[in-house]
Amino acid sequence: MTTWQERYGATLMNTFGVPKLMLARGVGAHVWDADGREYIDLLGGIAVNSLGHAHPALVSAVTEQLSTLGHVSNLFASQPQIALAERLTGLLGHGARVFFSNSGTEANEAAFKVTRRTGRTKIVATEDAFHGRTMGALALTATEAYRTPFEPLPGDVVWVPFGDAEALAAAVDDQTAAVVVEPLQGEAGVNVPPRDYLLQVREITARHGALMWLDEIQTGIGRTGTWFAHQNADLFDGEVVPDLITLAKGLGGGVPIGATLATGAAAELLVPGNHGTTFGGNPIATAAALAVLDTIEADDLLTHVSELGALLRKGLLAEPRVTEVRGSGLMLGLTLADGVDTAKVLEAAYAAGFIINVPRPSRIRLVPPLVLTVDDAEKFLAAFPAILDEAGAA
Ligand SMILES: *Cc1c(COP(=O)(O)O)cnc(C)c1O
Repeated sequence: MTTWQERYGATLMNTFGVPKLMLARGVGAHVWDADGREYIDLLGGIAVNSLGHAHPALVSAVTEQLSTLGHVSNLFASQPQIALAERLTGLLGHGARVFFSNSGTEANEAAFKVTRRTGRTKIVATEDAFHGRTMGALALTATEAYRTPFEPLPGDVVWVPFGDAEALAAAVDDQTAAVVVEPLQGEAGVNVPPRDYLLQVREITARHGALMWLDEIQTGIGRTGTWFAHQNADLFDGEVVPDLITLAKGLGGGVPIGATLATGAAAELLVPGNHGTTFGGNPIATAAALAVLDTIEADDLLTHVSELGALLRKGLLAEPRVTEVRGSGLMLGLTLADGVDTAKVLEAAYAAGFIINVPRPSRIRLVPPLVLTVDDAEKFLAAFPAILDEAGAA
């Protein structure tokens, strides 16, 4: 009999390696694998399943929309598309225009094209950043291993250390079209910049007439306890109005959608003929995103995320083999004591019934559904010491 691993290995492109688990169904922050084993999901499809699995509000929004009007192309408007654009600009609190797409990398592609319409080409990005895998977004991503096999990529990109305002000030000049930065770096394992970093980015870009572009694809939509991470007073001083904001992951709660928000003059840079998409902003995806936003609001999930994040942080720091917890709300990166093998920790966590993530060899990332319960969080905290023991951590 062939196993699913063999079938996967034989027919899917070898971009991800063969996964360890095949998941079959989920409810809330719980998932079951193909053998019926239950797991508490602390990864949420990589910060995507904001409402967990099979949330009734999302199921009914998508079902109703699909049975009414599923797709129309951008030759036509649809009610949920306009409503979602209005809703997002309302949450931002500043006038903005929105371009909808289907993923994070596409949200960044649209923003990248906006920057080219300034008449400048130079982009300043940060080391360890992740902006996506398509050629444009990849051109902004510093990681050599991702880039090198695909060069030449769109050029005129320079990288500076993340969180270093001085290095940024030295790199940005009057030829700079934009500075692109994640408020918290996600794929790098959750890196948090100094509290005044975003204010400095705003000041430096404004001084040179460059656009400030925040990649909130992972940090946005309640992940850190505020709608957008740049609005989070626990993380950042002051208020900034970025020129560009990109969103995806948590926005659709698992239904693919990306969004590029542009404020002020940047909102007028793309004109007919400059960009397009067939699927982007389709009624199903935008209805799904509206259901996600409605539920976050109705269930006061932002407060829940802040409180639960604080509980997790405190509990994790009580474990002596956790040397550091970075991040805010339900976006947490743990550093473990020297010598702890995070690959073994991952394996032990799976065996104990918890889905966690190791984005970098030394780092554990928790980005669970925003609906994770206190009970589930406490179960993980209670199990974590034994997971570390099992992984052979001294
Ligand atoms: C995941 C991610 C992307 C890419 O999103 P995809 O949907 O995988 O294309 C871009 N930027 C950040 C910060 C991300 O976390």
